[in-house]
Amino acid sequence: MRENELEQLRLRIDELNEQLLELINERARVVQQIGEIKKRQGTEPYDPVRERAILDRIIAKNNGPFKNDTLKHLFKEIFKASLELQEDDHRKGLLVSRKNKTSDTIIDINGETVGDGKQRLIAGPCAIESYEQTRKVAEQVKKHGVPFLRGGAFKPRTSPYDFQGLGVEGLKILRQVGDEFHLSVISEIMSPQDLDVAEQYLDIIQIGARNMQNFELLKAVGTSSKPVLLKRGLSATIDEFMKAAEYIYMAGNENVILCERGIRTFERATRNTLDISAVPILKKETHLPVFVDVTHATGRRDLLIPTAKAALAIGADGVMVEVHPDPSIALSDSAQQMDFDQFDSFIEAIKPYGLHTSVQESRLPR
Ligand code: PEP
Ligand code: MN
Repeated sequence: MRENELEQLRLRIDELNEQLLELINERARVVQQIGEIKKRQGTEPYDPVRERAILDRIIAKNNGPFKNDTLKHLFKEIFKASLELQEDDHRKGLLVSRKNKTSDTIIDINGETVGDGKQRLIAGPCAIESYEQTRKVAEQVKKHGVPFLRGGAFKPRTSPYDFQGLGVEGLKILRQVGDEFHLSVISEIMSPQDLDVAEQYLDIIQIGARNMQNFELLKAVGTSSKPVLLKRGLSATIDEFMKAAEYIYMAGNENVILCERGIRTFERATRNTLDISAVPILKKETHLPVFVDVTHATGRRDLLIPTAKAALAIGADGVMVEVHPDPSIALSDSAQQMDFDQFDSFIEAIKPYGLHTSVQESRLPR
């Protein structure tokens, strides 16, 4: 008789589980509908005030035997799962999301590819200071088979009294040197009004960390036919970073490269904190190539080799570094740029970790 009773109760539990399952999924479907409405309204999925009100209502109706705290815990798990579902749906909606396009975005820059599994380097001075300085660096960059030469012309400086860059003159020097050495060139612009001149002189347009949420600039470069390297903002979450990339992509420019460059934390040992796990997360969440700028991430010359190795080992599509003929007299970032001997050692050290170098001499017309 007891055996039979236990069997009956177990059957009842199975039945209740099925009902719970049905209810919980029914609830999830309603949550998804709410998520759709919120997405159209542009509101965030998480609403703590609403969550508090739901919990209060549940607790008020609780007749036991579960304690209020236990119920709170159980329902909070349901809320968490529901929120993840909504966020997942939101992300699926992004054009840059891998859920939207499963294949990797591969970008062709004058015959050199980015995002196809070959791990590349972008190297050059922090700022273009003169034709001679840029030329000397380009020689070294070329010598090592690095296809991309960087150099800042419009410099985002914390202090308005610091060197602001040579502006258009700097872009002209970069182009001239790039052409001499058959290197593709990349530089930052800070304002939509510089887009025309950037398109005239550059192969890749960089959007700096400080401008990751300059939405008008993002929309402007979104209309360009030039690839864009977008740096992660100083205190941007991965989600905000992806949404910034979405602005560019949505405006029609599908050639977007993401660049992790460290984020601001309480840690003072490095200039920024390199969020290395952002690389595999971005590779998983998006279909865009992901670079790591180890120079600005660390602000320390002695950490460039280990962090570049880490970036390559974790699956970055490339690394960015700064090189200067004489860093001690550099007009910006003198503490972290490499001199030529250090650059030689850097290349030798990271080559075994998968760095792809090129011997291509010819260059397609721009
Ligand atoms: C740069 O690459 O020149 C630069 C200023 O970097 P960030 O925008 O990442 O600080
Ligand atoms: Mn710099």
